[in-house]
Amino acid sequence: SVGFICVFLCFGCGLPCVSAAFQKKVQNKIKDLVQQMEEGLKTADPHDFSTYTGWTGIAVLYLQLHRVSHEPSHLQRALDYVKRAMRILNGRKVTFLCGDAGPLAVGAVVHHRLNNSSDSKDCVSRLLTLQRSVLSPDSDMPDELLYGRAGFLFALLYINKEMGEDTVDKETISKVVSSILDSGQSLSSDQKKTERCPLLYQWHNKQYIGAAHGLAGIYYMLLQPGAGVHPDLLSELVRPSIDYVRHKRFRSGNYPSSLSNETDRLVHWCHGAPGVVHMLIMAYKVFKEDKYLKEASECAELIWQMGLLRKGYGICHGTAGNGYAFLSLYKVTQDKKYLYRTCKFAEWCLDYGTHGCRIPDRPYSLFEGMGGTIHFLSELANPDASCFPAFEL
Ligand SMILES: [Zn+2]
Repeated sequence: SVGFICVFLCFGCGLPCVSAAFQKKVQNKIKDLVQQMEEGLKTADPHDFSTYTGWTGIAVLYLQLHRVSHEPSHLQRALDYVKRAMRILNGRKVTFLCGDAGPLAVGAVVHHRLNNSSDSKDCVSRLLTLQRSVLSPDSDMPDELLYGRAGFLFALLYINKEMGEDTVDKETISKVVSSILDSGQSLSSDQKKTERCPLLYQWHNKQYIGAAHGLAGIYYMLLQPGAGVHPDLLSELVRPSIDYVRHKRFRSGNYPSSLSNETDRLVHWCHGAPGVVHMLIMAYKVFKEDKYLKEASECAELIWQMGLLRKGYGICHGTAGNGYAFLSLYKVTQDKKYLYRTCKFAEWCLDYGTHGCRIPDRPYSLFEGMGGTIHFLSELANPDASCFPAFEL
C-alpha cells in the first residue's frame, strides 16, 4: 500500500504534500476513468440536461479538469456538453443542480473562459429571467438546494465567483436571499419555533437536515459572503437555527436525515454528517467560534469510521462525496491528517468497481456516478483549491 507515503511534510513549502508517486497513480486512473465515462455516456439519457445526473454535470467535470490541466481540449469538451444541455432546457425547474439555472450558469462560465463575451452575457441574462418564479410570493417553490431557491442562489453566486463580483448585481442576490429568509421565518412561525429555530424549511412536508434537501444546505448558502446577508440577520436568524440543528446530533456524531427521524443510518453528503460538516466549517469562518470547528472535526472522525460506502464512489451518496469533507477540513486547518484521509478515500476510489458496491442509476453522472469520482480524484493535484461541485464556492 502507498498509504504511509502518500502524504508528507514537504521540504520545499513546509506544508503537507501528496507524494509524486501517489499523484502519478491518481493521474493515470483519471485518464482511464475519463475514457470509461465517455464510452458509457454514449448510452446515457439524451434528454437529461441536469448538473446532477446529466450533460451539464459532465461539462462541470471538464471545467474542473481544465482548471487543473490547462488543456484546451477539456474546455472544448465542456463547451460541447453544455451546449448539448442548453438545447434541451424545459423551463420546469430553476436550480443549478436540477433545473435550467445549471446549464445557463455553466454555459456563461464556459463562454467566458473562451472569451465569447456576447454568448456569455446572453446566458447570464437568460439565467436572470428565472428569478421571476423564484421571487413570486405565491409560488410553491421549496427552498432546498436540489429543487428550491437555495439552488438558484447558488447559480448566482457561482457566476460571481467565476466571472467577477458584480456580474450578477447585488440587488438581485439580495432579493433572492430575502425570499429565502421570508420563507424560513414564515414556516418557523407557523410551527411555533421562532425562538428555537427562526429559519425553518421543509421539502415534501419533511424538515430535512442534510445538504441536498435540508437545512444544512440552505444555511450554508446563506452563510456565503457573496450572499451578503446582513451580520445582524446572520446572528439573529441563521446562527440560532444552526445551533438548533447542532443539538439534533446523534451520540455517534452523525446527524439525522430530518428533524423527525431518529434512526442513525445515513452518512452521505445528501443526508448526514458529510453534508452538515460544510455548514459547520462555514459557521466557524463566519462566527469565529471554535465550537463549530470542533464539531466539524468530530464529523470527520465519524466519516473516517463510516464513510467508505457500499452505495458507490459518487459524490451525492458515495465515497468521493465523503472525501470532500476531509478536503474542506484540510483547507481550513492545514492539518496533514485530513490530507492523508483524503488520499485513503481516493485510494479506495482507484479500485473503482472492485468492492461489490451498488451501481447507481446514472453510473457516469457527476452526482451519482463516475463523473463525480473523477472530479474528486482531480482535486489531489491542488487540494487547497478543492471545491465540492455545485455546492462549495
Ligand atoms: Zn444522495
